[in-house]
Amino acid sequence: MWLKQGSREKQDGMTGVVAFAAAVLVALFLALTDATMGFERGMRDARDTLRLAPASGEIVIVEIDGRSLQELDQWPWPRGYHADAVTKLDELGADQIAFDVDFSAVSSEQEDARLAEALGSLSQTAILPTFKQENTAGGRKTVSEALPLPAFREESFLASVNVTPSANGRIIQYSTGVTTGGIPRPSLANMLSKKPGKIGDTFRVDQAIDIRTIPRISFIDLIEGRVPRDQVDGKSIVIGATAIELGDRYPTALFGVQPGVVIQVQAAETLSQDRVRETVGQWTAFLIVAFVLGLFVAHRARQGRGAAHSSFVACALGVVVTGVALILDQTTLPYIELTLAFAFAGVFLAVRRILISANDLRIARLTDTKSDLPNRVALETAIRVTPKANVVAARFADFSEVTTALGSDNLAELDRAIARRLKLIGGVEEVYRLDRGLFGLLIAKGADDDPAQASLSARAMFNSPFEIAGERLRLEVHFGGALGSIGDAEDASELARKRGLAWSSNARGLHEETQYRQRILSELDDALANGAITVAYQPKLRFNDNRITSGECLVRWSSESMGRISPADFIPILEERGRIKDLTMHVLREAISRIAEASGEGHSIGLAVNVSAQLLSDAAFLKQATELLMASDTSASGKVTLEITESAPMANSGGAREALERLANAGARISIDDYGTGQASLNYLQDFPAQEVKLDQSFVRNLTKDHRDRIMVQSTIELAHALGFDLVAEGIEDAETLRTVAELGCDFGQGWEIGRPMPWDEFKHVLGPRDEDAAAA
Ligand code: C2E
Ligand code: MG
Ligand code: MG
Repeated sequence: MWLKQGSREKQDGMTGVVAFAAAVLVALFLALTDATMGFERGMRDARDTLRLAPASGEIVIVEIDGRSLQELDQWPWPRGYHADAVTKLDELGADQIAFDVDFSAVSSEQEDARLAEALGSLSQTAILPTFKQENTAGGRKTVSEALPLPAFREESFLASVNVTPSANGRIIQYSTGVTTGGIPRPSLANMLSKKPGKIGDTFRVDQAIDIRTIPRISFIDLIEGRVPRDQVDGKSIVIGATAIELGDRYPTALFGVQPGVVIQVQAAETLSQDRVRETVGQWTAFLIVAFVLGLFVAHRARQGRGAAHSSFVACALGVVVTGVALILDQTTLPYIELTLAFAFAGVFLAVRRILISANDLRIARLTDTKSDLPNRVALETAIRVTPKANVVAARFADFSEVTTALGSDNLAELDRAIARRLKLIGGVEEVYRLDRGLFGLLIAKGADDDPAQASLSARAMFNSPFEIAGERLRLEVHFGGALGSIGDAEDASELARKRGLAWSSNARGLHEETQYRQRILSELDDALANGAITVAYQPKLRFNDNRITSGECLVRWSSESMGRISPADFIPILEERGRIKDLTMHVLREAISRIAEASGEGHSIGLAVNVSAQLLSDAAFLKQATELLMASDTSASGKVTLEITESAPMANSGGAREALERLANAGARISIDDYGTGQASLNYLQDFPAQEVKLDQSFVRNLTKDHRDRIMVQSTIELAHALGFDLVAEGIEDAETLRTVAELGCDFGQGWEIGRPMPWDEFKHVLGPRDEDAAAA
């Protein structure tokens, strides 16, 4: 179906819903498979580079660097070097002195004593490292603890240096303290930053603290007295190894692999600068974005207003959530994970884009590029959906000549103006541009305007000229209609144009109809001869004694090539082509012979034969019929009734009355069939030599339901009786109607309740008193 504005929006609404569902599914999949985590790390690193912060400078590393190792060319160093270092630092006014050096093993008694002594003689208490390692080997969990030698322990505080590498090995989590040697130890970072921490807690080391800005002093410079006082005075000092050859290195997020001591300081800076942040997991941002977008999409879809702007909303949500997250990044408020929300919004945008593009392509295929009107393909598509649709082609005569002055842009404008007018025609659902000066109209199902009439008034609409680009253009239109075929409608409109008509109908329908007629006419003779045309007898009930004494002859034609053909279909054709006489004579002959046959078996019956009104002016028929009637020995008793439909030719011609008189004189009873459907009144008919009036089925059908029909029937019966006619009620389909017409005083009744048209052998058996059970069955 061509997408109109409304349905186009609806389609658009569907893109929103579909894209939303796809995005939710993809997001769930990504979340449940942890696929977002790698992206999240990348994003976090990127966001961290936006919030790089320098170190405070209050925590200084004394590094055991390559130069120190080189100059003090003995390793492991005698602990006297460390003793010298702490002594120097103390002299230079260090606020805190800490080691990130493992003193858990004995070196030499003498050197260990030197360090122990130096620690003991400091003006403050130094901090030594301890750590706890949990190993799972062979399924068994073992815990190893490292503590400085007891001699050092006595003279110092112990601080834990435990770090927990994350899944990808980068140091992220840092313990605020562990228990070693049965005593809870705060972490080195907590001690250096002088921030309390709970044993067993961890925090995330802020990767954005720029470790390049941590002040460093080379160990060798320190012990050789080359460090100015102000680099140490009042600072917290950590002594640790940075030389590559000493190992103890860990990867960081932004600064590559770094010595453990640097990470200790980064952790301490995280605490001292209050940069510990919680993390809000990926679900939160996702749920917020999905919830708001979902509400919007559902709201639009419910209103049938399309999902326009939903991409905008998705982007806006992304921007807002990102903005909020980035603002929070500049504070110590939580870090919000965004990747899942991004993935969700991204998939939503992508899927919707794809759907819209597909839709646009479809629309482009169905649209005339110049005028923007739906094109032939669109009409073909519409017909495919409703194959029996009424298609009308509107063809403008001399279109090219009239519009030569117009450029192509103006032509498109003219096309649109024409389409607007065509749309005003009753029942027109959509207007399609088929060609230059040729438009297709799709007529709505059930539109019952007479197309010929509608075309006339539509034509009048085109009397007023179009004004396009200063030109006044008067166009003449011709319409052609067909069922479900553009080509046929076009042909018909061409026919209308050629003949100067407003309207011409389905060329193929006409063609088929002609063929059908041709077949009926060509097969008639054979059918009459070979018994394909038979007569069925429908019983008539006489009410005064409730007996079936007569019937109506109704032709039946079952053709080998065309199947069973209804008399309502083929009789008009025969009438039109002057072939009804043969058929009627055939039935009349049969009726007469049946009456004779029945009388031979002791039944006195009457049979009615239908005679088309036109036969009354057919001299040959009158001659043959009267001769036949007079020759038959049944004629005298008036057992043949001729039913003539009450119709205009009969009522209007004096010839008809004369003809009826001839037939009556030949011994036929005359009956007026289908009374009430034509114009003639009973008063008028009393001049005709008729004995019987058959009230049309349409009055009898609703007799018991419609009050007015009852009145009409009752008064007709009264008048008919007053004028001396017998009255037959046709189309009695149920017992109640039968009882009613009998009560109202009808003389005869005919209809399914009494008996259907049946073959002669059956008919013979229903003759006589009415067997109600048989009729009901
Ligand atoms: P009609 O002469 O008015 O015949 C009565 C029609 O009503 C028949 O239809 C019959 O089958 C039908 N009918 C009878 N009782 C009932 C009923 O209770 N309910 C309903 N719904 N219908 C009932 P059929 O046989 O289809 O004939 C249609 C018409 O064809 C006839 O109308 C008649 O005008 C014409 N016709 C039939 N045979 C001949 C014929 O031999 N010559 C001519 N010229 N016309 C004929
Ligand atoms: Mg009849
Ligand atoms: Mg009738």
